[in-house]
Amino acid sequence: SSSGMKIPNCTVIRCRAAVAWAVGKPLSVEEVEVAPPKAGEVRIKIVATGICRTDDHVLEGCFPNVDFPVIPGHEGAGIVESVGEGVTTVKPGDKVIPIPLPHCGECSFCLNPESNYCLKSHFSESQNLLPDKTSRFTCKGKQIHHFLWVSTFAEYTVIPEYAVAKIDAAAPLDKVCLLGCGFSTGYGAAINTAKVKPGSTCAVFGLGGVGLSVVMGCKAAGASRIFAVDINKDKFAKAKELGATDCINPRDFKKPIQEVLTEMTGHGVDYSFEVIGQADTMIAALASCNMSTGVCVMIGEPASGSMIPIDPVLLLCGRTWKGTVLGGWKMKDSMPKLVSSYLEKKFNSDLLITHTLPIAKVNEGFELLRAGKR
Ligand code: NAD
Ligand code: ZN
Ligand code: ZN
Repeated sequence: SSSGMKIPNCTVIRCRAAVAWAVGKPLSVEEVEVAPPKAGEVRIKIVATGICRTDDHVLEGCFPNVDFPVIPGHEGAGIVESVGEGVTTVKPGDKVIPIPLPHCGECSFCLNPESNYCLKSHFSESQNLLPDKTSRFTCKGKQIHHFLWVSTFAEYTVIPEYAVAKIDAAAPLDKVCLLGCGFSTGYGAAINTAKVKPGSTCAVFGLGGVGLSVVMGCKAAGASRIFAVDINKDKFAKAKELGATDCINPRDFKKPIQEVLTEMTGHGVDYSFEVIGQADTMIAALASCNMSTGVCVMIGEPASGSMIPIDPVLLLCGRTWKGTVLGGWKMKDSMPKLVSSYLEKKFNSDLLITHTLPIAKVNEGFELLRAGKR
């Protein structure tokens, strides 16, 4: 306007989204209304999204703190459509990756260089509604919840600015969307959380998109031997291509897999990673790393409320057991750098892509995930 005031964007966008109406039901692709971004928020046109096992856990009702109906999806990439008042780090037209782990920049963990666990994360604050405790999504007159503040299974979504990372305009969005969760989580677990050293030995339990990214991280860090463990042998060819030196199916052995790995390496591997989310494989991964300097990183998400009985002696001689969320990256700052590394071909996350489907076939994508075909 003539006074130089910004005219607020008040258009509601109608578009498609995959809505989960209730636990245990397939997604339903619906027309939804997406309200304009309020102050501190960004409305994004989602161009591509991946499917992570965590989305499937949502549909199964594994997270009691996720409210339904909800639009899942947390591994996407898109273009800023409009921004609310006060937004300074992105502008319309920018390519962005929504980050499922926010970065408020003010809490004690954001201020701590060693932590990526912003206190606005869903374990502390529900990310089912935007920070002002309202939703920007409606469908058939009902309010629909956000998921992890990103809800990438919608053609347009509204996200707080501190959960959006600007990336290079040259980035192919249909490829770098994987950096929003799966790739960054696995790769970062090896590089940042375990800090894998050159010449070391590693074991990766579970070879889904995240586990294969751990294999890539171990390889990039210079591991000399990488054991890839899965009960689905169809995963082994890709694991080898990405750097695994030994592929092991626990079902081929009578002995527990931790004993097999300990024998094969003398005293156990230097680093082990659990990328499945089950109590028994968490114990097996822990017992597979050596008792003194071994480090076991838990990545898989256990069903909420599950308990793990362990023999404390496992930790007595110095073994370390730790977890990671989103691979330890401070995502708002790291994402542009990860995308630059992708563009410089420092890693090839494209090898993780098995299928490309339109939004109308989102349930087919979940069927492929459940069948172990992606
Ligand atoms: P996925 O389902 O694609 O892969 C899991 C793999 O584990 C499959 O290949 C399966 O065959 C294998 N597996 C199952 N049971 C096994 C067993 N008993 N022994 C050996 N292998 C077995 O899953 P994904 O998308 O790669 O995600 C892996 C896990 O990581 C999930 O639990 C997901 O929720 C979690 N996750 C955590 C974070 C985090 O920040 N910590 C981020 C993303 C995903
Ligand atoms: Zn994920
Ligand atoms: Zn914070």
